[in-house]
Formats: sequence, structure tokens, C-alpha cells
Amino acid sequence: MTFRITFLGTGGGRHTTMYQVRSTGGMLIEHDGKMLNVDPGPGALTQMHRIHYNVSDTDSMIISHCHPDHYSDAECVAEGMCHGGRLKRGHIFGSTSVIEGSGKLGPCLSKYHLNIVKDYRAFKPGETISVDGMDVDIKKAIHSDPTNVGFVFHTEHGRVSYVSDTEFTPEIAEQYIGSRVLILPVTTPFENRIPYHMCSDDAVEFIKIVKPELAIFIHLGVVMIKRDPDKQAAMVQDMTGIRTIAAHDLMTLDVGEELVLGDAETFDDEWIPSTSP
Ligand SMILES: [Zn+2]
Ligand SMILES: [Zn+2]
Repeated sequence: MTFRITFLGTGGGRHTTMYQVRSTGGMLIEHDGKMLNVDPGPGALTQMHRIHYNVSDTDSMIISHCHPDHYSDAECVAEGMCHGGRLKRGHIFGSTSVIEGSGKLGPCLSKYHLNIVKDYRAFKPGETISVDGMDVDIKKAIHSDPTNVGFVFHTEHGRVSYVSDTEFTPEIAEQYIGSRVLILPVTTPFENRIPYHMCSDDAVEFIKIVKPELAIFIHLGVVMIKRDPDKQAAMVQDMTGIRTIAAHDLMTLDVGEELVLGDAETFDDEWIPSTSP
């Protein structure tokens, strides 16, 4: 049984995204031989190419909300899952804005791309979905896309939570109590709170409530990157007593009996199938 996250991107927010100060490609999760793309924003495809990962090995894709740093490469991942339209294969899961559109936002994928894969569905907070045999709880968020959600992945070795873009409130954080790993979008550093996102001050409060074994910062904005995310994480660790790190692009985390951090290895030299036209 495996559960490995490769952080395809660790940037977030519109400026990091438009300048690609860091990649914004979301996460690639391997669980028991199944492959899952989560929030494939700009850079996801480039990073997958860089590590020689064949995107047609992706079984499912989850998209938290309809902001481009979370979805812009999604149509191409859908093309990959169904092997360029040759197979009815792959599952897409997304919030209401992603799948159906909501207000001025979305949908994130064209009708064509939703229909080339095997199936797709929208989720709402409070639900638990099954993603290729893994249970994933859908949690509430407070964000400028009001249909945004967060996730708790149930692994054999404990719960791994990905809190997508949200403001901090105690109620939002309490949803993640029991998580072994807490992946937090900390967009801005201390004393730089912006609406609908979290800063390092919020991370301190969030982590004190959840008390995970490990907290990981992602979705780093430009000001955060300039202030040194490693240093910000170290300060948060000092203030909470909980191991806290900032992720870097192509970092990996293996969740077994122990938590093992590393850097992505190259997958396969034959990552572009010879049958590709
Ligand atoms: Zn975002
Ligand atoms: Zn967002």
C-alpha cells in the first residue's frame, strides 16, 4: 500500500501564477497503484513532462474550485486520461463551479472534455467520495469561489488533508482535526493578511487547532516567496511546537508508518508512448 504525493507546484495566487515564480501544477498522488491529479493549474503538464510522468497513467482528477491556478491544465489532463480520446477512461471530480459553472465562474472544462472521460461528478461539503478505492471527505471553505472545498484523504497510514484556498476560522480548521498531515495554502507571510486566503498568522492558529504530525505550506504568493517560506515555516514551527515545512516544487512525501520527504525521481524513459501520433 502506497500513498505518495509529488508536489507539481507550490505557488498560488494570481501573481505567482501569471509570472510562474513557482509552478502552480497542484499535486500528483499515487495511491495503491492508482494515479490522481489534484488541482492541475499552470505548470502541471510541464512538471509532469520534467519527471517523465506519462499523463495517460492518470486515473482520476480532482479540482477544488474554478480559479486558474487550480484548473488551467485540466482539459489536457482529461485528454491524457482517455489516451487522447481513444478510450472511455478516467474520472473527473470537481466543485459545482468546476463542473456546472456558478455565478460568473466556470465551468472549468468544456462539455467536450467532460464527456471524453468515463465519468464526472460535482461534490459538495459534507460528502465522502470514493476515488479509485480511496475515501475522500469534502470539507467547507470560505473563498471568493463560494463553491470551493477542502479534502481529507483516507490512507492506510492516517488522514492526509489538503485545505484548499480559504480564510481561517476556528470552524474551518476544526474540520481537519485528526489529520496526520496538514497541507495548508499559506499565500502570504506574517502581517500580510489578504481576503479569502491565509497568512502565516492564520497558519499558527490553524495548526494549533488541528495538531497534525506535519504541516506543509503550499500555494505560496510572491510576497511570501520573497520573505523566504522556509523561514516563515520555521517561525510557525517555533510558535506551535508542530513540525512545519514549506514545500518546494517536485518535493515528494511518502505516507507510510513514517513520513518520508524527498525529491521526485524520474518515472520512465518511455513516458511518451510510441503510439502517440
Ligand atoms: Zn489559488
Ligand atoms: Zn482560489
